[in-house]
Amino acid sequence: MRYLVLSDLHANLQALEAVMGAVRADPYDRVLVLGDLVGYGASPNEVVEMVRAMDPLVAIRGNHDRVACGIEAPDEFNAMARQAVLWTVKSLTPDNRDYLRALPSGPLPVGSKIEACHGSPIDEDEYIFDGADAAMAFDRVMRPVCLFGHTHLPVVFVRERHRIEAHLADEGGRLTVDVEPDNWYLVNPGSVGQPRDGDPRAGFALVDDESGEIELRRIPYPVELAQQAIRDAGLPLALANRLGAGR
Ligand code: ZN
Repeated sequence: MRYLVLSDLHANLQALEAVMGAVRADPYDRVLVLGDLVGYGASPNEVVEMVRAMDPLVAIRGNHDRVACGIEAPDEFNAMARQAVLWTVKSLTPDNRDYLRALPSGPLPVGSKIEACHGSPIDEDEYIFDGADAAMAFDRVMRPVCLFGHTHLPVVFVRERHRIEAHLADEGGRLTVDVEPDNWYLVNPGSVGQPRDGDPRAGFALVDDESGEIELRRIPYPVELAQQAIRDAGLPLALANRLGAGR
């Protein structure tokens, strides 16, 4: 199966539409969603409805989803994230709120070779930023390829025996890694809706568990429309500005 992997969509409808447009000519079998469908962006209902229409094989919750659907209070959030998530709580339709509420926490298996989590296989709220974080996560993974999000930074960590190497995309935002039989992989597709690596383009991945090919990609989208929607919703201006900077 060839999977389209989406993470950290953050209610950015324009970015999600661009990703879905980009993969139209590039067939995949099923969609995997690694959490944070909402929060920060201005289109939570539209994004949740688009995801529901994709009928993802696996969709897991992120920390923003948990707060947006009322599972917990935004105690761990900074002021900007809190303001956005409280706006999201008010904006979600009951139906979309129920969909988020029913999302499971990771890690979840995707066939025999892949698993999916939001932050890390250790804990859904844990961040994997560097090789040391990856080393701890690798001790916990059950399958050769573990998909994760949460940092909004696209990367593939490869463990070969006891050595861990981080692979980053080229300037075009592309990275292709072939899965080797004895190695282990931690794959972050980057963020669809709020990239933070200085590149404003939407990030996603295509992962094929038969050919063993992992591809990270970026696609430009009309950032100014997503920014306008954030301003129109009365959300913090900084949330619009950061989309332009990809930070
Ligand atoms: Zn996120």
